[in-house]
Amino acid sequence: WDIDPAKHVPGRVLHTQGWPLSESESWGGGFLYHQAGGQVALGFVTALDYKNPHVSPYEEFQRWKQHPAIRAILEGGKRVSYGARVINEGGWQSVPHLAFPGGVLAGCSAGFVNVPRIKGSHTAMKSGMLAAEAIVAAIAQGEEGAQLDGYEANLRESWIADELKLVQNAQPLVAKFGGALGTVLAGADMWARYLKVNPFGAMAHHTDAEATGRADLYQPIAYPKPDGIISFDRLTSVSFSFTNHEEDQPCHLKLTDPSVPTRINLPRYAGPEARYCPAGVYEFVDVPGGEGDAKRLQINAQNCVHCKTCDIKDPTGNITWVAPEGGGGPNYPNM
Ligand code: SF4
Repeated sequence: WDIDPAKHVPGRVLHTQGWPLSESESWGGGFLYHQAGGQVALGFVTALDYKNPHVSPYEEFQRWKQHPAIRAILEGGKRVSYGARVINEGGWQSVPHLAFPGGVLAGCSAGFVNVPRIKGSHTAMKSGMLAAEAIVAAIAQGEEGAQLDGYEANLRESWIADELKLVQNAQPLVAKFGGALGTVLAGADMWARYLKVNPFGAMAHHTDAEATGRADLYQPIAYPKPDGIISFDRLTSVSFSFTNHEEDQPCHLKLTDPSVPTRINLPRYAGPEARYCPAGVYEFVDVPGGEGDAKRLQINAQNCVHCKTCDIKDPTGNITWVAPEGGGGPNYPNM
């Protein structure tokens, strides 16, 4: 957002935890950073292991902006950009193999975020430096297509490993015990690990997809209508992502079984893909001439902002995101 210069305090950081998600028994928090050029960058994180399939992370963000402390900053300003992205916060126990023939995983893609610090740029950069060193050494030896196992070994011996091991139970403890108690236990676990005591070991995760509960077990959520000043509908927000995909290309959102959305997702989970996608890509629409209230899933792939939520949160794991043709996707300014 461009905000009123009188309200801009360069360098000020605001973090929040819980509200308004506490009302839907899910977990997350918000951030608002006063950055250069009279702008603020703000966002809201909804943990994707939420149970209530009626939750809409996008609408939670709109509600969050209406909090008096946030609204006061935004009033008189205007939104200039919009985007969304999954944060892969599985921690050290979720880091995959990092090297394969001719390539490596580095940066955020490999999952190096330090969850309690809400920060991963430092680990991402360090992994890039280690990858660069391994790549330069391989090229010097004429091994361009080699699998750089040395990169992975060096990374797992680096301070990235030390730092991420200290905090590796933060997310699982919050997921298991909830926001309040989980945060306290996560803090205790981190202090214990500083003292070389490891009470919980390395805790495992469940998948976000399997955390999703049946729709009939949870209350639908009546989200407020956007006011067009602070809160907005999804599709006008998507236009501020400047996402673009070449026309007439195959859909880059693949359904393993095309019958699952209407056979399982809609009756059992009330079609959560229509809510968890921050770009309104998935829509259940009437079948023309269909019997009764027959529906089909329409995939507006051209709107996709490449957040990868659908690949992770679809209850049956039926959706796979693949790279679209032509380098399409969102075009974020200032990034
Ligand atoms: S289609 Fe999937 S990857 Fe694209 S914006 Fe929606 S949830 Fe994100």
